Amino acid sequence: MAQHNHIFYKWGGGIEPDLPRVDHAHDEFLVTEDGEKLIDAAAGAAVTNLGHSVPGIEEIFESQSAEVSYLSLSHFSHDAPEDLARTLATRAPGDLSKVFFTNSGSEANEAAFKLAREYFRARGKPEKSVVVSRWQSYHGATFGALSATGNTLRRRGFEPFLTDWEHISPAYPYRWSFDGTPEEQARAAARELETTIRQRGPDTVAAFVAEPVGGASIPAAAPHPVYYKEIRDICDEYDVLFIADEVMTGFGRTGPLFAMEHYGVTPDMMSLGKGLTSGYTPMSAVLVNDKVADEFAREDVSFAHGHTFAGNPLSAAVANFVVEQYTDGVLERGQQRGQQLASELAPLADHPMVGDFRAIGPMVGLEFVADKDTKEPFDPSQKVYKQVYDAALDRGVYTYPGKGSVDGVAGDHLMLSPPLTLSESSVSRIAEAVEGAIEDVYSRVH
Ligand code: PLP
Repeated sequence: MAQHNHIFYKWGGGIEPDLPRVDHAHDEFLVTEDGEKLIDAAAGAAVTNLGHSVPGIEEIFESQSAEVSYLSLSHFSHDAPEDLARTLATRAPGDLSKVFFTNSGSEANEAAFKLAREYFRARGKPEKSVVVSRWQSYHGATFGALSATGNTLRRRGFEPFLTDWEHISPAYPYRWSFDGTPEEQARAAARELETTIRQRGPDTVAAFVAEPVGGASIPAAAPHPVYYKEIRDICDEYDVLFIADEVMTGFGRTGPLFAMEHYGVTPDMMSLGKGLTSGYTPMSAVLVNDKVADEFAREDVSFAHGHTFAGNPLSAAVANFVVEQYTDGVLERGQQRGQQLASELAPLADHPMVGDFRAIGPMVGLEFVADKDTKEPFDPSQKVYKQVYDAALDRGVYTYPGKGSVDGVAGDHLMLSPPLTLSESSVSRIAEAVEGAIEDVYSRVH
C-alpha cells in the first residue's frame, strides 16, 4: 500500500499516486512489498539491460568506495574514469575516441550541443549554432535537450524554449506519406534535413541529432538502411555535425552494442546513458570523434562546461564493470530473447487494434489505432496506453506505455525493452500478458 511520502511526482496526475512499492529486485523481477513478483519487461525505462543484482556488483561498490568515491575530474585523474574512457573509445564505432562524462542522458545531449557550438566557434564560424532534430523524438528534459526533443506531449507547457531550433519528420515509416519504394521514402525523409539546412542557412546550422532507432516516442521504429547514409552525406556536405543519441539504444538494446552499427554509419558524437551503468548508478557520456576533439586540443580553445558529479570514480567503476558484462554472448542472448519475444507476439501484427508492430533486437514497439485502415489514433480521452499498461500490470508484467502525440500524428504506444539477460520462460510470460492485455482493452474500447 502507498504510504504518505514527500516525493513530488505528478507525471500521471495526482501528487501522491498509489504506486506499487518495490521491496527488492533481482534479475528481471521486481518484488513488491505485497510479495508480488512482477516481470520488468521495460528494464525500468530501458535502463537495467543486465537485470537487477548482477553477481559481482556489490564488490565493485565496496572496493571503489573504500578506494575513493569522489574526485573533481577538473583537478584530479583516477584509474576508474580513465579505464572507462579507454574502453568506450575502443568499443565505439569509427574514431569516436574522446569521452566527456555527464550524469544523465539529458546532460549528455546538452554537452553535445554545447560542444558543437564551441567546435564551430573554434573554427571561426560562431554563427553555426542551430540544432536540427526530428518530431516524435526524445532527447531529455532540460531546456536545451527539450528544445531538440520533438515529442509534443513532453514539450507542451514549457514554451517558450530557450532556442529557436528546427525539426524534421520523424524516421517513422509507418506514418510516412512519401511516395515510392521503402528506400525512396527513406531518402525523401532524410532529404528534409537538407531542405531545412538550406532554408535556415547552412552558415547557421551546427548539428543534427537523432535517436538511431526510435525510443520513448516511437519505440523500435527503425528507418531503411539508406536513411543514415543519406543523413551522413548531407551533414558532410553542409558542414553539420551528426550527433547520434544512443542514450536508450546503446548497450545492446537493439542487438549490437550500439544501434548505429545496424547502419554502418559513424556519427561525429554519440550520447550514452541508461545501459552504461545498467541503472546501478547515474552516469552518462558523450563520445567525440577526432575531427571535433582535435579543435579542442588547441591552446586557445576551451570547453567551460561540466557537472560536479561527472565521471566520479564510483559511477565509473560501476560502468567499467557493467560495460565488461556486454560480451558477445550477452548481446547474442539479448538478440535471441528479442527474436523469441517478437515471434511470440507476431500474431498481434494482425490485431485490429494494432496499427504497427515492430521489433529490433530486444526492443518491441506497438502503435494502437482505432482504425487499422485509416491509421486513426484512439481518442486521447480513452487513455488506451494506460488501459493496456494497467491490464499488463494486472497480469504481473511491467511495460513502458507511451501516450499518443498531442497533435494526433501518432497514436498511443507500448514499448517492451526487457533486460537482455531474461529467461525464455519470462519472455513467454510477457508475450502472454501483453496479448491478454490487448484483448482485454480491445473488448472495452470497441
Ligand atoms: N535521450 C534519449 C534517447 C532518451 O531515451 C532519454 C530518456 O529516456 C534521454 C535522452 C534523457 O535521459 P535522462 O532521463 O537520463 O536525462
